Amino acid sequence: MPNWKDKMIRMMYGRYGADTLYAFLQVLFWIVFVVNLFVRSSILSLFSSLILVWMLFRFFSRNIEKRRKENECFLRISKPMRSFISLQKMRWRERKNKRFRRCPYCKTILRLPIKKGVHVASCPKCHHDVKVHIWW
Ligand SMILES: [Zn+2]
Repeated sequence: MPNWKDKMIRMMYGRYGADTLYAFLQVLFWIVFVVNLFVRSSILSLFSSLILVWMLFRFFSRNIEKRRKENECFLRISKPMRSFISLQKMRWRERKNKRFRRCPYCKTILRLPIKKGVHVASCPKCHHDVKVHIWW
């Protein structure tokens, strides 16, 4: 039993392991798996099995460069979705102190302190003055 950890370390040596795509596939797998508990579809069952196989294949793969490129591609494709989610998290976290408004010139999201009324804010990206209405 004492060299169980050593055996695991030796087995994982030179293998790719976990990354962002792995974490995404894990979440996707559990979502499909739980949905399939209620739906009981053979197509969803096959789909979740394929996700699991792909996940494990990537985890134990020795072709590190190819897995790294796959992850890079995934990060590039998922960037808009990930930044949307992180913006929503920030909006929720700061909902009591800040208001978020879009700059009409460059579409950047402005993070403003709550001061009720109409104000003029300067956009940090395009430096236009933006009229901002904050009512609540
Ligand atoms: Zn702007």
